[in-house]
Amino acid sequence: MDDRYAILFEPVQIGPVTARNRFYQVPHCTGMGHLHPRADAGVREMKARGGWAVVSNQETEIHPSSDLSPFPEGRLWDARDIPALRLMTDGARKHGALSAVELVHNGYHAANLGSRMPAFAPSETSSHLLTPGQARGMDKTDIRNLRRWFRDAAVRARDAGFDIVYVYAGHRMTILQHFLLSDCNQRTDEYGGALENRTRLLREVLEDTREAIGDTCALALRFAVDEMMGADGMQAAEEGRAVVELLADLPDLWDVNVSDWSNDSATSRFAPNEGYQLPYTDFVKQVTGKPVVGVGRFTSADNMAAMVRKGRLDFIGAARPSIADPFLPNKIKEGRIDEIRECIGCNICVASDNTGVPIRCTQNPTMGEEWRRGWHPEQIAPKGDAEAALVVGGGPAGLECAMQLARRGYDVTLAEAREEWGGRVSREGALPGLGNWRRVMDYRLHDLQQRPNVQMFRGSALSADEVLGLEIPNVFVATGATWRRDGIGRHARRPIEQIGAMVVMTPDDIMTEIQPPPGRVLIYDDDQIYLAGVLADYLLAAGHAVSFVTPAPIVSPWTENTLEQTRIQRSLIENGADIHTNRALSSIGPQTCRIACTYSGRSEEVACTSVLLVTERTRNTTLFDALQVRGLETLQLIGDASQPALIADAVYSGHSAARAFQADAATIEAEFYRREIIDLMETPYAG
Ligand code: ADP
Ligand code: SF4
Repeated sequence: MDDRYAILFEPVQIGPVTARNRFYQVPHCTGMGHLHPRADAGVREMKARGGWAVVSNQETEIHPSSDLSPFPEGRLWDARDIPALRLMTDGARKHGALSAVELVHNGYHAANLGSRMPAFAPSETSSHLLTPGQARGMDKTDIRNLRRWFRDAAVRARDAGFDIVYVYAGHRMTILQHFLLSDCNQRTDEYGGALENRTRLLREVLEDTREAIGDTCALALRFAVDEMMGADGMQAAEEGRAVVELLADLPDLWDVNVSDWSNDSATSRFAPNEGYQLPYTDFVKQVTGKPVVGVGRFTSADNMAAMVRKGRLDFIGAARPSIADPFLPNKIKEGRIDEIRECIGCNICVASDNTGVPIRCTQNPTMGEEWRRGWHPEQIAPKGDAEAALVVGGGPAGLECAMQLARRGYDVTLAEAREEWGGRVSREGALPGLGNWRRVMDYRLHDLQQRPNVQMFRGSALSADEVLGLEIPNVFVATGATWRRDGIGRHARRPIEQIGAMVVMTPDDIMTEIQPPPGRVLIYDDDQIYLAGVLADYLLAAGHAVSFVTPAPIVSPWTENTLEQTRIQRSLIENGADIHTNRALSSIGPQTCRIACTYSGRSEEVACTSVLLVTERTRNTTLFDALQVRGLETLQLIGDASQPALIADAVYSGHSAARAFQADAATIEAEFYRREIIDLMETPYAG
């Protein structure tokens, strides 16, 4: 190991337990939780294998009045939940890691849609989520019950084998934080008013939890020091600091961050710098004698070592960097820094939790597949009988497929039509805020370039005859997809009428640096994912006037899943875009476009000099179609050429194809369909 990083591998005491090093996977959701306990345990165990000293689970409901359904988070409602969580603690222990559980009562953030219990809050309030049920202000009996639920859950957590038990006050999602916040807590009794009173419940729960877990487990407090709302919310310099001073040495560990979740898990588009939370959180080390963990999408070992050396943090906290590379600590330890798969800050992992499905990651296609498909991020089966494979297309799907085939030991030829590698990743990565996305390409290119069994050709647009001329019988076609120029998208299933002359562009034009003519660009976003919003930012920054038209009720609606939507819409408004929501494009040109209300059909004209259609993509299958009748042993379409989707899906497709190549069909099928089936035996319905 490089001496510069030795400090990162010092053991650190946390109350009664010892972490083997300073790499700390803070709690993060997986979209698995109580519905997929084996899969969830598989995620955490892989990180323990990869060298993390502490692996935490996700927010874990202590009681049915904190029911986050339909989102599958952790659950410790009663003792029947213990065996599922023990899968995780056993897995972590097997590989020398401590395991932590993030106990939570979500207060008015829990809609209790499954349990149908009333929601609780310090004072009467509407639900945090868009549901009709309001939360009721708690009386003293409610508070006593809440404390008992926390105590009982802490005992169950200890019995499940956790080494660290969390009390959680962050993200505006937990009742203990709601009590702290003056706008949520309007009580007039000893739990409201002055900050000391608002901190009372948190202090009591910390003390109760300590008593419940005894002296075998450590007690951690996750606390959001700043809400990034200025004077409207808690600020690190004022009440945030005061809370830390009030509770300084009560927990065994402070896990500090900023609130809400969109600030804590800010994307690289809006928080490009590593360590972006430290200006808010690094005072905590000066106030408490207990170890402090902080986050900020750390992926650079030099930065991490500097954080510890300068006394800003004791532990390097990570959620997303540990998802992108579960073996990050071991790679630093073993001097393999250039092999780290750095998080790109895209929040596709977050989107899976927000859509209630198992976690996925753009950089790490094995994430979430540890148990279901038995995938390991660093290991892959050796090759079968064949010797060679050809991959056509050097975008994310082709690069990943080629890299994994090469790791398996095949002789790999990779051909790319353009002079530049990376396909959509290099093109989208050149747009404002998306520079970190190029890491998808950089990581794979670096790996491929080290391998003697890989030949790489740029500027090689292969025809079917040229492919056959290479005499490689196994071919993977990753030729991507092209943005449509006819306007067909989610809303319009027929081409949009073009009445008169108008410059009509697509994202591919802009990304190959073809500029629109001077004047106003009308961007028509019927894709509704992220790209139109990014292109709007780009064109506004380049000095164009922009009219943004979309049939959706908000700009880039899918980005609510990546926690970016508000920021995107704000950015467009602040930069002067003329936004038309709930509007479909009905005809183009001359000099104007006609747009119509998606409800009433009432239409209006918008003057513009060009139209940028961001609607749908067509799969590039010409090469694949021509090869289909040419008798190759293997011919497989992967990535966007198979299904236009996210970059994460293209990487996954390339990875999956490389693993499946010459694998036993029964094994592949069994892995893919490994599911966690509900136990029907426990309580049969009596009728
Ligand atoms: P994906 O996301 O599936 O990887 P991309 O569109 O990012 O798809 O990348 C596809 C790549 O394939 C592009 O860089 C494109 O230049 C390349 N490509 C397309 N057709 C050919 C071809 N016939 N020969 C070589 N490369 C090709
Ligand atoms: Fe990072 Fe994106 Fe992977 Fe999440 S999905 S861990 S943000 S690379």
